[in-house]
Amino acid sequence: MELDYDPGEGINFWRRIELLSGYPKNEHMPIEAMIFESNALFKLPDLLHDVKANPQEPLLTVMDKTRMTRLGQDLKQLVLRILHEAGWQVRPIVLEPDLTGQVHTDMLHIEAVKAAITSGATLLAIGSGTVCDITKHAAYLYERENGTPLVFVVFQTANSVSAYTSNMAPIFVNGVKRTLPSRYPTALICDLETLADAPYEMTVAGVGDLLAAYVSIPDWYLAYRLGMDHTYTDFARLLMGPMDDILIETAESIRERTQHGMQILAKLIALGGLAMSLSHATTPMSGYEHVMSHILDMIAEINHQPLAQHGTQVSLTTLLAAGAYQHFLQEFIPQEVILSSCYPDAKEMEKEIRQTFLEIDPSGKASEECWSDYRLKLEAWYTNRESFIAFLNDWGKIRRKIANWSRKPEKLLKILCAINAPLTFSQMIPSITEAQARFAFMNAPLMRKRLTLGDMLIFLNWDRKKLWEDVWKVMK
Ligand SMILES: [Zn+2]
Repeated sequence: MELDYDPGEGINFWRRIELLSGYPKNEHMPIEAMIFESNALFKLPDLLHDVKANPQEPLLTVMDKTRMTRLGQDLKQLVLRILHEAGWQVRPIVLEPDLTGQVHTDMLHIEAVKAAITSGATLLAIGSGTVCDITKHAAYLYERENGTPLVFVVFQTANSVSAYTSNMAPIFVNGVKRTLPSRYPTALICDLETLADAPYEMTVAGVGDLLAAYVSIPDWYLAYRLGMDHTYTDFARLLMGPMDDILIETAESIRERTQHGMQILAKLIALGGLAMSLSHATTPMSGYEHVMSHILDMIAEINHQPLAQHGTQVSLTTLLAAGAYQHFLQEFIPQEVILSSCYPDAKEMEKEIRQTFLEIDPSGKASEECWSDYRLKLEAWYTNRESFIAFLNDWGKIRRKIANWSRKPEKLLKILCAINAPLTFSQMIPSITEAQARFAFMNAPLMRKRLTLGDMLIFLNWDRKKLWEDVWKVMK
C-alpha cells in the first residue's frame, strides 16, 4: 500500500497537496527540502548548500548529551566530522538536562540557544523532538527580534513524535504545557540508518503519536459542528490517507527496523506534523487523548518525576478515548437530550476545577491556569446553543462522518501489538497507575479551552463512571 501523498517527492508533493481542499492560500513549499533516504547523512553538506546556508558564517549544531550511535559509530561525532571536512565552521551547542535527567522544552534552554546565534549563522538541530523544538523556537524568536531570516535544518535522530515538520512549539510555561506559534524548518533530513539505530521505544512512541489522529480529528469535527471551532477542514485527513492500514502493513518492517519501515514511518510522521502546521492548529493531531496525556505530564512534573515517552503515553490515552467514542457513537440518542440540563453552572464548575487541580498541585497555580482556560469554553458553549440544537437534528450525518474516521480500540491495539509497543499503563516507564489514568480520563476536559468528546460527555450528563469501567477493560 502506497502513501496517498509522499513527502519525499519534493516539488511534486507540494504541487499535489496544494490542490487539496483546506490547503492554506499563499503558502508555497514552506519546507524547502525533505529527504528520507539511506545514507542521507552524507548529503548534509550538499543540502546545506542547496538551502543557501552561508558557509562563511558559523554553523550552530544544537544537541543534547544523549549518546547516539549509527552502525556502531558515534553519530554526533560523525555528523560533526562530515561537516567539518566539508569546510563548515561548526560550533556545537550542548543542552544540559535538569534534575530529572531530561532536557525539557523551556524558555531557559530556548534563550540560551538564542543568545548564541549571530547574524547569518545557520542552525542545525541534531536530535529528536525536544532538541528540534528548542532550536526551532530559538531561531523563531531571534528572527522576530532581529528581522533577519535564518536557515534552520533538522537532522532527525528518531521517529519519535510528529513535531519535526511543525511550525508550532509545545513549551512548558509555569509548569503547564502550552503550544506557541513558531516556525518551519528550512529543511528536514532523515537518515534511515540513524533512525533504525534509535532506541526502539522511541520508534514505538512515534507510531503512538500518530494514532492520536483517530481521536483528535473526530474531536475537531465535533467541535466544528457544535460551533466551537471554525477552523475544521478535511485537509489533515486527506493528507494522512489510509494511515492505519499502512501501519498494519508496515508493522513487521518497523519492528525489524528495516530501511523500508523507517522510511514509511518517518514520512507518516512528517505528514502528521504538516497536517497540524498547514491547518494552523494542533487540533488535527491533538484532542481528548493529548489533554489526558498533558494531565499525566503535569502529575509527573509536580512529583519531579521524569516524563514518560510522549507518543507511548498518547497511544494508551488514545485507546481510552477511542473506546469512549465507540460507546458514544452506539449509545447517543439525541431525542433523549434534555437541553436545559446540558448547561452546567459556571460557579459550580469553577469550584469543581479548583478542587480537582488542588489535589495534584497544592500551590493553586494549575487550578488558576485551568479555570482561566475552561471558563472560555463554557462561555462559548452557552453562546452556541443554536449550533447544539442543529447538531442534535443532524446527528445522523455527523455520526457517519465521525464513525468514518474513528477506530475501534481493538484495531489500534492490533497496530500497537504488531510493533511490540506497551499495551498497558503499568508497562510504561515510569509506570502509570489506574487511579492516575482515571483521573486524566475524568478531568482532562476541565483543563483546556478546546472542546473534545470529554466535554460532550460532561454536558450530556453521561454516566462517565460506568463508561470508565467499560473503556478500562480494553487495557487489561
Ligand atoms: Zn503528540
